[in-house]
Amino acid sequence: MPTDLFIGGAYRSAAHNARFPVIEPATERELAQVAIAAEQDVADAVEAARVAADSGPWPAMNAEARARILNRMADGIERRAKELGTLEARDVGKPVSECVNHDIARAAKNIRFFAAAAEAWTQEASFSDAKFLGADLKLMSVTARSPLGVGAIIIPWNSPLMLATWNLGPCLATGNTCVLKPSELAPLTSLALGEIAAEAGLPPGVLNVITGLGATGAALVNHPDVDAIAFTGGVGTGRSVMAAASGSLKRVTLELGGKSPNLVFSDADLKRSAAGVARSIFRSQGQSCVAGSRLLIDRRIADEFLALLLEQVSKIRIGDPLDAATEYGPLISASHRERVHAFVTEAVAAGATLLCGGSVPSKPERGYYYLPTILDNIDEKSRAVCEEIFGPVLTVQRFDDEEDAIAKANATRFGLSAYIWTTRIERALRVANRLKAGMVWVNSFFLRDLRTPFGGARQSGLGRQGGRYSLEFWTEPRMICMTYGEDSHG
Ligand code: NAD
Repeated sequence: MPTDLFIGGAYRSAAHNARFPVIEPATERELAQVAIAAEQDVADAVEAARVAADSGPWPAMNAEARARILNRMADGIERRAKELGTLEARDVGKPVSECVNHDIARAAKNIRFFAAAAEAWTQEASFSDAKFLGADLKLMSVTARSPLGVGAIIIPWNSPLMLATWNLGPCLATGNTCVLKPSELAPLTSLALGEIAAEAGLPPGVLNVITGLGATGAALVNHPDVDAIAFTGGVGTGRSVMAAASGSLKRVTLELGGKSPNLVFSDADLKRSAAGVARSIFRSQGQSCVAGSRLLIDRRIADEFLALLLEQVSKIRIGDPLDAATEYGPLISASHRERVHAFVTEAVAAGATLLCGGSVPSKPERGYYYLPTILDNIDEKSRAVCEEIFGPVLTVQRFDDEEDAIAKANATRFGLSAYIWTTRIERALRVANRLKAGMVWVNSFFLRDLRTPFGGARQSGLGRQGGRYSLEFWTEPRMICMTYGEDSHG
C-alpha cells in the first residue's frame, strides 16, 4: 500500500519526511503512516503538472488516444477491485460490499464514462452575415475548447475513490493535468491510484497525488500555477477555498454539504418508502452528502410510517466492515462520533424524543460505532434540524398539507438533494418543481445517470458536475471567427 507522495510519475517521501497516522475506524488501530506534503512538495507537484500541461504529450493527444490510456486505468481499478474495496473499507469504515460493488465499480465507470464523453463531444459552428471594409461577408464562427491547464482536485473522506475519479475523469479526459489531494482521514486508495495510472501508461506529471492535512490543501489552492479548483467537502472549507481562488481568479466548482428532506405523502407506498428513507439516511452510516437527514411526514400517516421505519432500522446489520454481510459500519473517527453524539444529546436535553439509537452499540466492542438514531418531537430551529450532522441521525417533522411540506423542506440554507415519496405523478412533479434543491429523487435514492447534472443549490455548492457540465468546467471555450464570401482569387 503506497504511503508516499506521487509526483511526476513516481512515489517519493515528503520534503521534511513528516507523516501522519491513518486510523482504521473499525479497530481504532493505526493502519498506516502517510506523508504530509509541505509547501515545497505542493510546489513540486504543481510544477510537475504544469510541465505536463505545457510541454507534455497529454494535452496535444486527441480524445481517442487519451481515452485508450484512461480506459486502461479503469481496467486497472477493476482488476484490483477487491483489494481497493477492502482497503477503502478499512480506511473509511464503510461495508466492504458497498465499497467493492458500488464505490470501486463506480470509480472505474467514472473514468470510462468521461473518456467516452470527451471522445463523443462535438464542437459547434454558427453561420451569420456581416459587413467589413465595404464588403458583404459570410461568417463561420466555431467554438473550440481547450484544456485549462493544471487542476487542483480536493476530496473528502466519505467516498474517496469514487469522488477522486468523478473529478479527475473529466479533468484528464479533456487534456488537463492535475494534483489530487485526498482527505487526511482516508487517503490510501487515492495514493494507490498513482500506481494504477503509471501502469496504464499515463504520462508522468499528468496525475499527481499529494497527502497531508488542511494546510496542504490550502497551499495547493493558493498556488499561482493552479488554473482551476474542484473542491468537495464541507461548507466552511468551501468558503475558504473560494476566497483563496479569488486571489488569482481561478475557476472553481464547489460540492458541499446538505440537509436533504425526505417528504413522505399520505398516498406513498409506505412500506417501500420506509425502506427507502432508512437507506437514504443510514447508508454509509449517514456520512453521505446526499443523506436524507430530515424526515417530513404527513401528520395523518406519521404513526403508521414511523412504526414501519423502526422495523426497517431494526433489521440493519451492524458489524465489521470487512464482513460481506455487514450493512452498517463505524463512523470515521472518535471525534466525529463525539460531534454526532453532541447533536443528539443537545436535542434530547431540549425535549426531543429518541425513537431509536442515540448511543454506542454494545457490539462490536471496538470501533467508532454509533447506532442509527431517530429524533422525534424536535424543535424545528434546533441545530440537529438546521445543521449538517453528517452522521446516522434522522430528525422527524410532521406537515399538514403539500404547501406546509414544501415550506418545511425549503426552510434550510442547504439545497443539495430532496426525496419525494408519493404514488401521484401530479404531486411528484408539482412538488419537485418547487423544491430548492439541485437534485430531486422521486420514490428512489441516489440513482445516477452520469450525464445529468450533479450538485447543489444555495450553500450546498457552486456549479454542476456530470456529463457535459464537467466537460465544460474543465475546458476554455475559444471563439474563432472565419469570413468567406469574397474570393480574392476569383
Ligand atoms: P472538509 O471540508 O473538512 O475537508 C475536505 C478536504 O479539504 C480534505 O481533503 C481536507 O484536507 C481539505 N482541506 C481542509 N482545509 C482546507 C483548506 N483550507 N484549503 C483547501 N483544502 C482544505 O470535509 P470532510 O469532513 O472531509 O467531508 C465532509 C463534507 O464533505 C460534508 O460536508 C459533506 O456533505 C461534503 N461532501 C460533499 C459532497 C458533494 O458532492 N456535494 C460529496 C461528499 C462529501
